Amino acid sequence: MDISFNCDKCGQRLAIDEAGAGQIVDCPKCKTPLEVPYKSQSVVAVSDMLNVPPSSGRLIMEFWSAAFIVFLLLAGAAGLLWFILAMAFKAYTLLNK
Ligand SMILES: [Zn+2]
Repeated sequence: MDISFNCDKCGQRLAIDEAGAGQIVDCPKCKTPLEVPYKSQSVVAVSDMLNVPPSSGRLIMEFWSAAFIVFLLLAGAAGLLWFILAMAFKAYTLLNK
């Protein structure tokens, strides 16, 4: 699996095989020496979102997968809360008969 990260100086996106983690590589664009991080940068810059190169498609997919999981968790929490409220309401009406 590749590690992808951005050049600190010019913002050029780089993808290096994870075997290269911790090594120094020169940016192909501005030739600045860069240390390859051990994990892909999870934060996507706004400029990347607006001007997405084809290689970033996978990262965008990961972003939407994460968004979907968050949505499911929120929906689950809302459903559980609704269930608790319904049970509480039922108990309340039974007690007040
Ligand atoms: Zn650069």
